[in-house]
Amino acid sequence: MENLEELKKILSYPKEIVITSHRNPDGDAIGSTLAMYFYLQTLGHTVWMVIPSEYPDFLEWMPGIQDIIVYDIKQERSKELVERADVVFCLDFNALDRIDKLGEMLNQQTRAKIVMIDHHLDPEPFAHFVMSEPDASSTCEMIYDFLGLIGHLDKMDLTIAESIMTGILTDTGSFKYGTSPKLYRVVADLVEFGVNDYELQDLIFNSLKEKHLRLLGHCLNNRMEILEEYNTGIITLTKDDYVKFSISRGDTEGIVNHLLKVRNVKMAVFITEQPTIVKISLRSKGDFSVQEIAQKHFKGGGHRNASGGLSFQSLDDTVKKFKELLPRYQAALMNE
Ligand code: 5GP
Ligand code: MN
Repeated sequence: MENLEELKKILSYPKEIVITSHRNPDGDAIGSTLAMYFYLQTLGHTVWMVIPSEYPDFLEWMPGIQDIIVYDIKQERSKELVERADVVFCLDFNALDRIDKLGEMLNQQTRAKIVMIDHHLDPEPFAHFVMSEPDASSTCEMIYDFLGLIGHLDKMDLTIAESIMTGILTDTGSFKYGTSPKLYRVVADLVEFGVNDYELQDLIFNSLKEKHLRLLGHCLNNRMEILEEYNTGIITLTKDDYVKFSISRGDTEGIVNHLLKVRNVKMAVFITEQPTIVKISLRSKGDFSVQEIAQKHFKGGGHRNASGGLSFQSLDDTVKKFKELLPRYQAALMNE
């Protein structure tokens, strides 16, 4: 972060601070938000967490999560807090459209200094203070780095350490993606600090309900297509599936990753029919980048190996459009 000294100065007096993260928050969004919430409180600031949409059930056990204010549920309160904030921390996203109406407010109605800490590619220039590390495994890993940079690793407590560990575990899929020697050093520090990684893994990953496994079975048995000539796997879900399996927010998390378990599959896509849009989740292995596909063709973005986007066409037309793109990427998908 270039102007860290200036930020340090700002944070050296009690401030009203809002922390926000992206819509449909994942473990990294919530973990980084909570870690920052508890850290900033140790400095004596008044801190609020305001996010666009609700957090998933599998994170309900996290200390502090009930203090999060959801814009979709409390619009007036959210607006008031953003308007009067001195500082707004934007965590785990780098484009204002990822936070819906809150993004418009940050653009127009706030006098706050904006701090962005994020690991996605191509940050938009909306923040006064920017920490952008596309090579970081997670925003949570960056929160640890931020505490180091600002000279406050001594402010770490077990709750902060466990919040950070949660985002690292979820964004790396338990150390399957985005790892580095440095990440393992950070994790060693967290475990040495007292984080019970076994218990956290159990809380995070073994909390499915019966309906989740039945939905996964349906996806794999009835809705999966493997296109061998493109090393690509597709799973789709219709509006009727959403009703039949009573799918709600967060219930489809992780389904797309199963496609990458098929030998040779390099790209996985999960296409779902939502009330007003069709949502696309893309994953890939190795050097093949799904970020470009999401950005160029589906109004989205993300990381090289995990991106997302949307379409305003029907489900069938979106699948057709996706398949029609594949010949362009065939060489890259089939090499090795
Ligand atoms: P998911 O497939 O889990 O919804 O999203 C995977 C990643 O893709 C997210 O971490 C985020 O970086 C990115 N992503 C998902 N949806 C969108 C979108 O609509 N716009 C942008 N810019 N990125 C997205
Ligand atoms: Mn993240």
